[in-house]
Amino acid sequence: MNKLNQPLSGWGRYPVQTCATSRPERYQDLQASSTTQIARGQGRSYGDAALGETVILTERVNRMLAFDSTAGTLRAEAGVTLAEVLEVIVPQGWFLPVTPGTRFVSLGGCVAADVHGKNHHHDGAFSQHIIALELILADGAKVACSATENAALFWATVGGMGLTGIIGEVSLRLIPITSPYMQVRHYAAANLTGVFALFDNAALDDAYSVAWIDSLATGKSLGRSVLMTGHHADAADLPSVMRPAAKSTLSMPFDLPAFVLNPWTVKAFNQFYYSREGHKTQPFFAHYSDYFYPLDGIAHWNRLYGKSGFVQYQCVIPTAGAFAAVTALLEKLAASRRPSFLAVLKKLGAQNQGLLSFPLAGYTLALDIPMRDAGVLALTRELDAIVLAHGGRVYLAKDALLTAQTFRIMYPRHAEWLRIKQAVDPDGRFASSMSQRLDLGVQHG
Ligand SMILES: Cc1cc2nc3c(=O)[nH]c(=O)nc-3n(C[C@H](O)[C@H](O)[C@H](O)COP(=O)(O)OP(=O)(O)OC[C@H]3O[C@@H](n4cnc5c(N)ncnc54)[C@H](O)[C@@H]3O)c2cc1C
Repeated sequence: MNKLNQPLSGWGRYPVQTCATSRPERYQDLQASSTTQIARGQGRSYGDAALGETVILTERVNRMLAFDSTAGTLRAEAGVTLAEVLEVIVPQGWFLPVTPGTRFVSLGGCVAADVHGKNHHHDGAFSQHIIALELILADGAKVACSATENAALFWATVGGMGLTGIIGEVSLRLIPITSPYMQVRHYAAANLTGVFALFDNAALDDAYSVAWIDSLATGKSLGRSVLMTGHHADAADLPSVMRPAAKSTLSMPFDLPAFVLNPWTVKAFNQFYYSREGHKTQPFFAHYSDYFYPLDGIAHWNRLYGKSGFVQYQCVIPTAGAFAAVTALLEKLAASRRPSFLAVLKKLGAQNQGLLSFPLAGYTLALDIPMRDAGVLALTRELDAIVLAHGGRVYLAKDALLTAQTFRIMYPRHAEWLRIKQAVDPDGRFASSMSQRLDLGVQHG
């Protein structure tokens, strides 16, 4: 297959690397080659997970193979995006069991990162809704795996960041809905104590929840937030006329100069957002695309952070130490005077059997940090120390900076994972810039 050299990056646009790329047109062209390689879906992971010597672009391997609209199951090639799936299933009364905050991701990417959504505290991660996968191994064998068949390989592949093989096909269980709308409710919290109390209040709990945090608020207002809860609206409850989904053609046409996004402009935006969203105290209906994918409305929004890109620092802290850790993380970020345009807090449920799956019972905090100077690295090392001290971990799908040593402490099952990797890929054919950085390769000799 012809290879083309091109500069590639993840969604954070840091780092940028020149990679050889191949773009298979058909399923049967998906296969391991002689150089080291890594599959790539839509490049929506933020760092270097989908970069490497050779990158296999899976976007053309995107056929939907079977959709049972009675049983609510779907089988598709892994290059299919969630946006494509939703277009087919929503009109038939079905929805994704788990969705990340963008629909422009591939099924393969969702499996490889074992993504979580706003319903993780109830429904777990993506892998927990998979019926089966077909995995293409380094020796070319196509292997079916699931929680009951080749289970060890399955639990190494979900969250395994593409390093056990190419995910070829995904079969998934869907959830029933009666309308494309969500019933949403917002709750303002004056500070972090307030938002943790909201998350802990069982009376306010709903199928989905997430909190937006004003990352620049300090002192008594540290962690002031808006908790946004919701569930799929019942068609019978909807008013007779509903607003259709906002159709957006907005796009960031160029990189925003660094001076536009500074502590003052972010502070002003956060003030505006907090008062506007925090005042929506009555339940309201929103189209699922506005509720789940607010950022998808602005194409190339990642240009907001300028040419040098940004990192998203996402960690999870076990419940017991979560309040102390999130306080320390937000204080550290505010003191650094690095504006984080987007800061999100979410409660996660129990961890699953995925050896490298990210979620565990606790709270996850995600912070966008512009990559303006070398100080960002020092800052993330300090954030890592806080996370480690509280028994937490950083999400690989967002990561570009973690060290191998820190990774090993954060992911205590990595040795088990490496044994499976060694067994299915003894020559280390599947490798990425991330796997090299984190020492997630095969040990020779
Ligand atoms: C705006 C935004 C919001 C997000 N919100 C969330 C969220 O709420 N929750 C969450 O969990 N994540 C979230 N993410 C992260 C995103 O869901 C994951 O990074 C996902 O993996 C991206 O899918 P992709 O198709 O773009 O994969 P890529 O970025 O292309 O690849 C990601 C990883 O998957 C592997 N991979 C991709 N396809 C295959 C394949 N066919 N076979 C084997 N390996 C493969 C790659 O090798 C790589 O390791 C968000 C990202 C963005 C940009």
